[in-house]
Amino acid sequence: MDYLPIFTKLENRPCLVVGGGDVALRKVHLLLKAGADVTVCAPQCHAQLLQKAQDKQLKIIHQHFTCDLLTDKWLVIAATNQRAVNKQVADAATALQLLVNVVDDPELSSFIMPSIVDRSPIIVAISSGGSAPVLARLIRERLETLLPMHLGRLAAISGEFRHRVKKVIKNVSLRRRYWEKLFADGRLGALLETGQTDNAIKLMESSLTDQIVSGDVALVGAGPGDPSLLTLKALQLMQQADVVLYDRLVSAEILDLVRRDADLISVGKHAGNHEVTQSRTNEMLIEYARQGKKVVRLKGGDPFIFGRGGEELEELVEAGIAFQIVPGITAASGCSAYAGIPLTHRDFSQSVTFVTGHCKHGGKELNWQALSVSNQTLVVYMGLIQATEIQTKLLHFGRSKETPVALINKGTRSDQHVVIGKLAELVALSASMQGPTLMIIGEVVSLANKLAWFNPETQHNFSRDPFLVKLN
Ligand code: SAH
Repeated sequence: MDYLPIFTKLENRPCLVVGGGDVALRKVHLLLKAGADVTVCAPQCHAQLLQKAQDKQLKIIHQHFTCDLLTDKWLVIAATNQRAVNKQVADAATALQLLVNVVDDPELSSFIMPSIVDRSPIIVAISSGGSAPVLARLIRERLETLLPMHLGRLAAISGEFRHRVKKVIKNVSLRRRYWEKLFADGRLGALLETGQTDNAIKLMESSLTDQIVSGDVALVGAGPGDPSLLTLKALQLMQQADVVLYDRLVSAEILDLVRRDADLISVGKHAGNHEVTQSRTNEMLIEYARQGKKVVRLKGGDPFIFGRGGEELEELVEAGIAFQIVPGITAASGCSAYAGIPLTHRDFSQSVTFVTGHCKHGGKELNWQALSVSNQTLVVYMGLIQATEIQTKLLHFGRSKETPVALINKGTRSDQHVVIGKLAELVALSASMQGPTLMIIGEVVSLANKLAWFNPETQHNFSRDPFLVKLN
């Protein structure tokens, strides 16, 4: 960061503008908007500056710049069309450790003035540090269209209402929720847009009495690992959470996107070793929600695909806790896409089945006979420890030993590792794998190399991964 963006309070602070032309006039406008006590120094001045002086909005000193004009000033802007003069102002101001801006000359300036979108009291400042002013302007234009004109009014009445909210809602996180809910409510904006300020205040008041005191739980799918595969809704909830309970499968890069002040709690579990953790997880979800917190239960992939999301929700329903569910990209979709393996294909596969290699104790056996029919794709989650059974059963029920298989390890992450071989080699291929691994079994796997693609963002060609081992 070459510049630190700060917002300075200039009300009644003496500021000097050197120069009397159009450029100086623009800067004077901004300084006056901020309530500064402005002095302009120039032998000749723009008519509008003269008018402002007459209206007692500023002082004009009709002379060339001299160093004594800097005495007692807070901030100086040099806006003449002569670089030598601007430099003289900058040098003199810098010697006195005053903040100085030379218009369009970052080299001489100790501060620069950003492009702004003004919805006072909301102000958005944009700067490219002088490297791409046109880009900064385009961003400003985009923001101008995005931020409604009534935003300033909204911020202003919210400011006036803050004390009232603080009095009624004592709990900090409940208070934050009140504001989040209110700002997300389109009615408030609509009222302000049509000038109905009184009704907007009434709405703020009635929402205050409606405030629900209990928290809620969002069961959120975090996708397979690449953070750019998160849904917007997942990201929004992660940014609003008070507490996030996450699985071992959720990547560190994704956790980095959670609101800084939220508590992060790992409820990691390994297949076959989670009975106690699961019930404790359920308890924690309920406890935190009852404390009025916004809880996010973050799960790898999609919460409803081998994620036990349904079981956790049943407990929430019983406890009467409000909840919502946000789907995520499941490992089968993410891994197959990043490995260039279409799950269905008109020539190779007319259906796809997701199965788990890890069944609940005493659970029902998979229908191996049905799964062994050719021209269908089988995606196995948590299959590594059951590789022997999967290979044996599929071959036993007639699936060809030549059927191509892919093992995708840490799919969609920057360290994704894909191994391709044949069904007869499944056990051997599995032996070298550790960590989350998805098996894709079926004729579609033969397309993996042809459909290699390049990820321009990470410069990482997953399908041509140096670790991609092709076993023939
Ligand atoms: N709810 C998750 C699945 C949880 S079961 C989802 O929808 O994706 C855990 C299994 O998912 C792992 O054992 C592995 O088989 C698979 N898996 C999850 N993420 C993966 C990834 N990034 N790469 C490979 N396999 C993954």
